[in-house]
Amino acid sequence: MACTLFRNAHIWDGSGMPAYPADVLVDGNRINTIARQSGALSAEGATVIEARGRTLMPGLVEGHAHLSFGGAVNDSDLGNIPPEEHVLLTMRNAKTLLDHGFTSAYGAGTSKLRLDVVIRNEVNAGRLPGPRIRAASPEITVTGGLADERKHHMYYESFGMIADGPVEIARAVRLCCREGVDNIKINISGDDLGPNAHGGLTPMREEEVAMAVAVARDFNKKVNCHARSAEAVKRAVRNGVDVIYHCESADEEAIDLLESVKHKIFVGPAIGVIYGTLYEGEQFGFHRDSDLGRIMQRTIETTAEVYKELRRRGVRILIGGDYGFAQTPQGDNARDLKHFVDLLGFSPSEALQCGTRIGGELMSMEGELGQVKEGFLADLLLVDGDPLKNLDLLVNERNLHVIMKNGDLYKDVSATQLVQHAVAAE
Ligand SMILES: [Zn+2]
Repeated sequence: MACTLFRNAHIWDGSGMPAYPADVLVDGNRINTIARQSGALSAEGATVIEARGRTLMPGLVEGHAHLSFGGAVNDSDLGNIPPEEHVLLTMRNAKTLLDHGFTSAYGAGTSKLRLDVVIRNEVNAGRLPGPRIRAASPEITVTGGLADERKHHMYYESFGMIADGPVEIARAVRLCCREGVDNIKINISGDDLGPNAHGGLTPMREEEVAMAVAVARDFNKKVNCHARSAEAVKRAVRNGVDVIYHCESADEEAIDLLESVKHKIFVGPAIGVIYGTLYEGEQFGFHRDSDLGRIMQRTIETTAEVYKELRRRGVRILIGGDYGFAQTPQGDNARDLKHFVDLLGFSPSEALQCGTRIGGELMSMEGELGQVKEGFLADLLLVDGDPLKNLDLLVNERNLHVIMKNGDLYKDVSATQLVQHAVAAE
């Protein structure tokens, strides 16, 4: 197996501890040794990367990946994409995420049943570039819920799989499990960006949520949900949903419930799409001075309040801002880190932990993914600059000098940069 030695790196290890200088030896797909004394590790047989004080950190984990989404203004835009083009779009998105330092992606919902599955399989087989992928199901929803884009006189597809009542829900979940997904997605609340049930409504019934989780458990799968209303959050917790997205309208009872299961669950605000709709959506028809704009503004405020409390209580929080819509292009995913600081009051280190260590736990790889520690899987980024001082460094792929996934050097421009520096100095 190949060895790689990072010399003179500045290690931010994902634990929340301050960064420190060290050399790091990767052997095969794992971090073998971290030596705080420079030059202590033998370079024999290893590819040597001169880090020159650049930051070595864990690969990022997208906690709310929509690998098959791209450029959609309306949810039905995704339904309009033919399957052949849609496979290619999903393939390109997987590469885009890895190019931007996301070495893992947790699927939050796919737009056709087998898109995440087939790309995950190809990436795992080494035939396509992409992150580690947990493949999502389409968003299972009830008639009138988020992702039911049909009209009474006209049929529309989106990213939804419509199922009403426990019997249909059971069938939908079994179908997704049979076809190889890792995560089931259910839409418990509505959404203000959809045409039907708004975010304050909770159209999926308790017994439907219960059935979805029970059947997913039969197949040993995780369940993610879309839950904006307080009641949706409560239905999710009461029935054992693993990953609860949004939650901005959680009341005291809902926050208490989330805290009561904090060692089992994850939450994610998906703030990127709210920010994008409010501040960068004008060209796509989202006007700031409109009812929708005011709802987006209020959502940012309520999200900040709720997540301040969830953070204080130790609930595990994920980055991932619904990237894949027109106002949230794939590749911009790391912008969520700065949004966490600017909009939600996180420190830069807290935000980065959401995108690394906590993401590793989300991938069900706690203790081996998401930190720079001996024995951990070697998913690493060498960053030109200090992300803790400027999180937006991580958004621009040019600042990622090395991207390593599972011990493989996917990208390494460290040597090229040295040459350029030398030329510039002459
Ligand atoms: Zn989403």
